[in-house]
Amino acid sequence: MNQVRPSAPQLAGLEPYDPKYLPARALLSANENPHDVDEDVRRAVMRELGRLPLNRYPDPLANDLRDLIAEANGLGREQVLVGNGGDELLFNLALAWGGPGRTFLNLPPTFSVYDANARLTNTTVANVPRLPDFSIDEDAVLARVAEGDIDYLVVTSPNNPTGKLADEAFLYALLEATDALVMVDEAYFEFSRMTMRPALEQHENLVILRTFSKAFSLAGVRLGYLLGNAAVISEFVKVRQPYSVDAVSQAVARVVYANRAKFEPGITAIIAERQRVFESLKKIPGVTPFPSDANYVLFRLDRAAEAWQALYESGILVRDFSRAPMLEGCLRVSIGSPEENDAFLAALRDFEMGGKPA
Ligand SMILES: *Cc1c(COP(=O)(O)O)cnc(C)c1O
Repeated sequence: MNQVRPSAPQLAGLEPYDPKYLPARALLSANENPHDVDEDVRRAVMRELGRLPLNRYPDPLANDLRDLIAEANGLGREQVLVGNGGDELLFNLALAWGGPGRTFLNLPPTFSVYDANARLTNTTVANVPRLPDFSIDEDAVLARVAEGDIDYLVVTSPNNPTGKLADEAFLYALLEATDALVMVDEAYFEFSRMTMRPALEQHENLVILRTFSKAFSLAGVRLGYLLGNAAVISEFVKVRQPYSVDAVSQAVARVVYANRAKFEPGITAIIAERQRVFESLKKIPGVTPFPSDANYVLFRLDRAAEAWQALYESGILVRDFSRAPMLEGCLRVSIGSPEENDAFLAALRDFEMGGKPA
């Protein structure tokens, strides 16, 4: 046979996720930490790796790492689960709470992975679009879950790519209003310093997603985790790949997590730079930045695709959302080092004002 039958029907029209990485002097497109782990932590990682038996399978559930995370969050091991990046746990969410005949509530514009996972698993997607300022249409969400058919939803807080936290009172109202599984995606929690962790005791339907990829400089390692109630976590355990988190990733994450206090000054500096970038963007004529609680700023401008190209030609890679639904004319810049942020602002000023001083 020199032909193959079609793949599963839900794949028709699905575009593979493309982070649109390109080489550039300033990589400000993927919300990574601009600083790699420091030399001391790197040495400790190397010592730990030197002791690893590579011929043996890893601990499937990474219990040592789970215990570290659990203790830091005042939880037990059975209330924590680690995954191969937050992305794997998002896929597991769709496997465990989605599927044929089941419905996911999405709040676009938001992280595109949720919608893609729902489609892959033949889950129906219901959308409650955000308001023009990208805040959640809270009344519409509460009305939609009241219909009773939503099996799970994700509230991204801070939202990616738009930047703001969800309102805490709204999240509590939502958890009260539905028995759907509510995932609060706190991938940027270290930059917002706001968490729904205190709600776990009273709300069995809450699960929180976090990652080592952003604040903890480990995007290359692939490590994410869930905080949830034991009954919810055990459902995720049923669908996960037993050895998805390899021994090397477990070891790196253990060392980094044990040293997490060392990342605090860097996080504080990024928060300060976020404010400076936001204020500087406001002063560029024709540019409208959206307030952010994360480590990136979304901004809107005319000729956004041309601006993206001009920035790229200046060695600065930002993320182009200008053709994405509801994000027309928008680019997203990750907060980099002060030098990278200056180079970005200078290049954008140059594009908008042709070199005229601001
Ligand atoms: C980055 C990110 C994640 C998880 O990323 P991983 O690198 O897979 O851990 C999850 N949600 C959002 C909104 C993100 O931006």
